[in-house]
Amino acid sequence: MKRCQACGYVIDGEAREIVPDSGSGARPTLYRHLKAEDCTAAKRERIATPSPLQRQLRRL
Ligand SMILES: [Zn+2]
Repeated sequence: MKRCQACGYVIDGEAREIVPDSGSGARPTLYRHLKAEDCTAAKRERIATPSPLQRQLRRL
């Protein structure tokens, strides 16, 4: 699962890979949404579709 470094949301479609320079040691490859609009869309989608846990908490 790829998570966007900019907005912190999961990337559904294509992700932009950010490979850290090898001189700074071994680091995991980071991912970002391709466009800023994709970050906005991911946030909006998250708000529109609450997780099962959130739904459960609301019912209590
Ligand atoms: Zn993003």
